[in-house]
Amino acid sequence: MNEFDIIKHYFTKASHRKDVIMGPGDDCALLQVPANTLLAVSTDTLVSGVHFFADMDPTALGHKALAVNLSDLAAMGADPCWVSLAITLPEVDEVWIKQFCAGFFELSEYYNVALVGGDTTKGPLSITVTVHGTLPLGKGLLRSGAQVGDGIYVTGTLGDAALGLQQALGNIQVPKAHQEFVRNKFEYPHPRILVGQALRDIATSALDLSDGLAGDLAHICRASGLRAQIEVDQLPLSDAMQASISQEQGWELALTGGDDYELCFTVSELHRGQLETALSHCGVKFTRIGRMFSGEPNVELVHEGKPYQIVNQSWDHFRKV
Ligand code: ADP
Ligand code: MG
Repeated sequence: MNEFDIIKHYFTKASHRKDVIMGPGDDCALLQVPANTLLAVSTDTLVSGVHFFADMDPTALGHKALAVNLSDLAAMGADPCWVSLAITLPEVDEVWIKQFCAGFFELSEYYNVALVGGDTTKGPLSITVTVHGTLPLGKGLLRSGAQVGDGIYVTGTLGDAALGLQQALGNIQVPKAHQEFVRNKFEYPHPRILVGQALRDIATSALDLSDGLAGDLAHICRASGLRAQIEVDQLPLSDAMQASISQEQGWELALTGGDDYELCFTVSELHRGQLETALSHCGVKFTRIGRMFSGEPNVELVHEGKPYQIVNQSWDHFRKV
């Protein structure tokens, strides 16, 4: 199979979207952008040995490569529409490509995102995905909009992907009953698209959690010129986390572990009730974990009214795979 056969056979899929005037196969994709619409565009690259284990299950990899990009659209509150895929493969392994596509297209079809183009090259395994979404003019959940007094919220539970990584590395023994849950959280993150859309008119700022809450929330602090205070005992920890490690270790993973792809956002106290209503149909749990204050942009941790410090645990949590 040469490059063109691979593209034709695996990466050219008819889409039901009427706004795809030209998909893969010509010099450019042609996409009909509705009037009075903002285009939201985001790119992420996953490199073998850096962002994922070289022997990662290709179906999970196909899912994750798209999921981490869709997560950025979610964090902006955008509606996902189109995606392009630049893939560098060390060899033509059709079984591998087929499985990769199964993971990729299952997720793209779920959100009705059309693969409209890309690039296929030979070299060390690497995957670059660019997603395109739309937003009504004037909308978009920026990092810079947080206000003094806003509550800080996160979706889902935190640190589970990091727990999955530590399990894979053999650093933490997760009880059998919870092993699949944490492996899935690590390999099959779910972009919080519905939540992002529901937050469009409510949240003052938002981002997705890719590098760990403490570091990611600091981006909101800097962009908004505010200080964030987190009550560590409010951090949502999964049953799997609580069954595997101590509470303090769980807080540390929740604050510093990457790859969760949950949303972190701020909402004015005035809109607290509206937030409950808006998110009730999304089927995703969300938790208030702190508040924004004026002051030096910084993330402060508190526990029972006192400053709290993360104790570095014995495992190497900064290690990427
Ligand atoms: P060009 O030489 O014009 O860059 P290519 O030979 O790289 O064209 O690609 C041919 C067509 O196939 C283009 O429309 C491109 O968008 C599409 N394509 C290439 N690789 C992929 C891929 N992995 N997924 C989807 N479309 C692809
Ligand atoms: Mg090309």
